[in-house]
Amino acid sequence: MIEKCRLCYSNNLEKCLYLPHSSPNISKLLKKTELNQDKPIDVHVYNCKQCGFVQIADILESSYYDDYLMTISHSPQMRTYQLSQASNFVQKYNLVGKRLVEIGCGDGNYLGYLRDLGTVSLGIEPSASFRDLAISKGLKVFSGYVSCDHLIPESPYDAFVTRQVLEHIPDIHQFLQGIRLSMRENAVGLVEVPSLEQAIENSRFYDFFPDHLNYFSQRTLRYALLSNGFSVLDLRRGMNGEYLEAIVKVDPQPSFQALQESVETLTRDIACLLTQARSQGKRVAIWGSGAKGITTLAVARVSGIEYVIDSDPYKQGLFTPVSHLPVVSPEELRKNPVDIVIITAMAYRDEIINQLRNNLKFTGAISFLGKGLQFWVDSDTVVDS
Ligand SMILES: [Zn+2]
Repeated sequence: MIEKCRLCYSNNLEKCLYLPHSSPNISKLLKKTELNQDKPIDVHVYNCKQCGFVQIADILESSYYDDYLMTISHSPQMRTYQLSQASNFVQKYNLVGKRLVEIGCGDGNYLGYLRDLGTVSLGIEPSASFRDLAISKGLKVFSGYVSCDHLIPESPYDAFVTRQVLEHIPDIHQFLQGIRLSMRENAVGLVEVPSLEQAIENSRFYDFFPDHLNYFSQRTLRYALLSNGFSVLDLRRGMNGEYLEAIVKVDPQPSFQALQESVETLTRDIACLLTQARSQGKRVAIWGSGAKGITTLAVARVSGIEYVIDSDPYKQGLFTPVSHLPVVSPEELRKNPVDIVIITAMAYRDEIINQLRNNLKFTGAISFLGKGLQFWVDSDTVVDS
C-alpha cells in the first residue's frame, strides 16, 4: 500500500494494475532447498492522479541490494549501444580528463568504458558482489548509498552517470539531491531508466515487478530531475525504445548576496539624495504607488517626500502603507511643483519620462531605481548616481 506519491507527495493515487501471484524476487534463481520458503505475492501498481507518476510500494528489505548480483548482459548489441552512449556523452560534454562518478556502477563494465574514453572515473555501488567485480577491473569503487546525508565520497565531481538505478530508489528526491550536492556547478549527468511508454504501448505487464519501485515516463522523469535542481539538456528514448536517457546539468545556485546588499545601497542612495535636496531647498516626489513603490518607500524607510504621483484615479487621495505618503494625480506637479522626481514604476519608466518632459513640461531632475539610484539624462544615457 502506498499512501503518498513518491514524486509529488499527493495522496491522490489510483490502483492502475493488479498482478496477483507475482514473484517477490526477480534478481536470483533459487536453490532446491529454498523452494519451501518461496511464496508468490500480489503486486499493486499505482498511478498518481496529481502528477502522473507510476509506482509500486517498497516491499524489499533495506539490505536487498547489499549482495545483489543480476546476470549482466554483455550481448554485442548492448555493448555497441553502451559504448556509443558513453562515447557521445564524453565527447559532447568534453569530459576527457574530468572527474566522473557512476552511481550504481554494478560490475564496472560501463565505468570501464568511461575510463577507457579518458575520464577520471570512480564508482559507488552498494552490492559487495558487484563492487568486488568492479574493483577486479582496476576501478576505484566506493560502497554505500547516496542521499542528502550521504554525499558521494571525494566530491565534488564534474560529471555523473546513473543507469538503471533510479527506478529502484525508494526516496527519489533524497537520491537526486545527494547526487546534485556531490557535483560542481554546471556538472553534467546521464540518467537512464526503463521507459514506461514502452511497457504501456506494448501492454507489457511483465515489466512491473518489486525491484522496480518507479516507472518513469519522459514527463515524470523530467519532472523528477527539474524539481531537484537539474536542467534537462536532452531527453530521448534509446535502445529500441526500451530506455529513457536524460542528459542533465547542475544549475548554478543564484547568489542572493548582491540582492541583500541592494537594500542598504538603495536606502543610502535615497537618503543621500533627500539630504542633499533638503540642504539646497529642493523638493522631491516619487512616481508610482504600485508594489515596487510601496516596497521601496517602506523598506528604504523613505521620509521627507512631498507626495507620490500615480496616474490611476482609484489610488489618488489615498496613502501609501507604512510610509504614509499622500498619492496624487500627475496634475499635482503643475499646482505644487517639485524639483526632483524618483520613478519607482520601472516597467513604465520611459512612458513616465515622456509624460514628465513632454506633457507636464517638468524640467527638474529625474531619478529611477536600478542597482542603487540612477539619474536620467535627456540625451538618453543612464548614469549611476
Ligand atoms: Zn504524484
